[in-house]
Amino acid sequence: MDVKYVQTTCPYCGTGCTFNLVVKDGKVVGVSPYQRSPVNEGKVCPKGTYAHEFVNSEDRLTKPLIKKDGKFVEASWDEAYDLIAKKFKGYKPDEIAVLSSARVSNEENYLLMKLARGVFKTRHIDHCARLCHSSTVAGLAASFGSGAMTNSIGDIAESKCVFVIGSNTFEQHPLIGRKIMQAKANGAKLIVFDPRFTPTAKQADLYGAFYSGTDVAIFNCLMGEIIRNGWEDKEWVSTRAKGYDELKAMVTKEAYLPENVEKICGIPAADLKTAAEWIGKAESSALLYSMGITQHTVGVDNVKSTANIQMLTGNIGRRGGGVNALRGQNNVQGACDMGALPVVFTGYQKVIDPAAHKKFADAWGFPDGICAPENGYEVTTMINVLTDKPGELKAMYIMGENPMLSDPDLTHVKEALEKLEFMVVQDIFLTETAALADVVLPASCYAEKSGTQTSTERRVQLWRPAQDPPGEARLDWKILCEVGAAMGYEKQFAFKSAEDVFTEIAELTPSYHGMNYERLNRPEALHWPCPALDHPGTPILHIGKCAHPDGMGVMHALEWKPPAEVPDAEYPYILTTGRCIWHWHTGSMTRRSQHLDEEVPTGWIEINPEDAKDLGIANKELVKAITRRGEVEVPARVTPDIKKGEMFMPFHFAECAANVLTNNALDPICKIPEYKACAVKVEKIKEA
Ligand code: SF4
Repeated sequence: MDVKYVQTTCPYCGTGCTFNLVVKDGKVVGVSPYQRSPVNEGKVCPKGTYAHEFVNSEDRLTKPLIKKDGKFVEASWDEAYDLIAKKFKGYKPDEIAVLSSARVSNEENYLLMKLARGVFKTRHIDHCARLCHSSTVAGLAASFGSGAMTNSIGDIAESKCVFVIGSNTFEQHPLIGRKIMQAKANGAKLIVFDPRFTPTAKQADLYGAFYSGTDVAIFNCLMGEIIRNGWEDKEWVSTRAKGYDELKAMVTKEAYLPENVEKICGIPAADLKTAAEWIGKAESSALLYSMGITQHTVGVDNVKSTANIQMLTGNIGRRGGGVNALRGQNNVQGACDMGALPVVFTGYQKVIDPAAHKKFADAWGFPDGICAPENGYEVTTMINVLTDKPGELKAMYIMGENPMLSDPDLTHVKEALEKLEFMVVQDIFLTETAALADVVLPASCYAEKSGTQTSTERRVQLWRPAQDPPGEARLDWKILCEVGAAMGYEKQFAFKSAEDVFTEIAELTPSYHGMNYERLNRPEALHWPCPALDHPGTPILHIGKCAHPDGMGVMHALEWKPPAEVPDAEYPYILTTGRCIWHWHTGSMTRRSQHLDEEVPTGWIEINPEDAKDLGIANKELVKAITRRGEVEVPARVTPDIKKGEMFMPFHFAECAANVLTNNALDPICKIPEYKACAVKVEKIKEA
């Protein structure tokens, strides 16, 4: 028997753990530890442990599919490419929209961005970062000039105080949770604020249960306490920050005194004061957040608030400090870095900047030019345009995304996608979205290809191929090059390998200039920015100066605003959503993983025992959850781990899809939907 071990990077969360794939007779059959990774040091979480199980699922797509008379029929690659080229050549640039993917490699995101802007000439490209961390990109860029996690994962273990808000780190980023425990073992205090008493909260020295959507009030309160007690870092504030006076005037208002904020958020005033003291007095304090902060109509304000408190306490550019935005998907950082966003090329070079636009147009050499130097639509805007402005968008190319489960208000999403004249989906499974497509292209998974992905800590790491794609499925980077060639642009897509593509990325992207596969082929890989071949990479950002042109950090004075939809007599509870440790996003991979599926085979709604008693609902009873968008039947999980008045649903499960219920109200700046707070009612299901 032929057995080999292939070192690669986990395809699930943004932590970026490394493990070995065990390959027997040419097929991936297991995962085994790789001890030399500085990120996970040989450990993996349950998803990583079973990351091989979906790879050879019987459900893998193995042939191109073309829909004829409402049914998919198998087709050859040439037939599929001919149809795609014929159709897309018939649309004007602004009639085409493209969705790239946080699941695939940097090289593939780059190629789809090039295909969108260079071949289709459309401005409309986005991906699911819009739905998870677009507020991080916008908020941290406004505060520091750069929109990414400031410190490294390993650095969290150095902290003397860890403040986790809006992140169930132990379930969503378990190997980052391990660093929190290392910090605790080194004497750090752990503060966790969350509406749920999560596994992360259970490890806290101070836990605060708050109502979803009250984050800015909490931060203002903490900062007011810090300033009133003189715990701010006066030197940092006076030499490195702008906007302190306005911030001070805002956060020291009477409205943000702990006793008043207790009434808004539900955390006792004494606990708010204790948290402020621990953060304000700590030698270093790391702030960790995730989608609990970002997925709000005030997502950008929430993110700016995290930056405010870390600047106020001098925890920017400091070991053990930082604003640590934990990115959810394996390569959501990289997909943003690669310009799979409607406003930037790679490395956040603005599409509307004439110099950047010319740089890419010249480098790519499309004889008929590239997209207009204008911003395009966000994915959430694309969906609204499809229903509200019929005929404006007509065709869509979707790679590795599943908006039919991931986007808010799914009834509306289905109505929108069904209005498209032509839709192509490139994926490894026939997802809920692929089922609506006109052409489905069978793609490859992480275990089958070379490429890079960029983790939440900006670490760029390699994938290495362990087996061939099944059947006639092809490598994604090759598919994209072949589509480009079919559209008549062979020269612009004449890449021989993923490494070849990375060379072009590095040439065009200042923060990746100093990277190549040879430099990345070592356990520690490289953190961006890495501007030159002799540069060691940058694990901690903003040491000495921020990334704004003047080097200063910008503080923002922000007033708290309630969520777009708050409980009322008809819908009396707050619904919030999230993930569980066993599943990942829309479940297309984890639900095809036998062990993970056995652990948690379906969804649930968490209800506080007092609320359940009021509603006459028993644990495990099937109930109806209803919002203004729709209703789903879902088993109740009655638990004191959810705050009274709040309810929680995981969003992985198509049969009880939380996103049928969620609100598509958007943050006005970054257009992220408010997944984390809407008004809900729950009813018993009456027997027929
Ligand atoms: Fe994979 Fe994240 Fe688990 Fe690490 S923590 S093994 S990256 S899912």
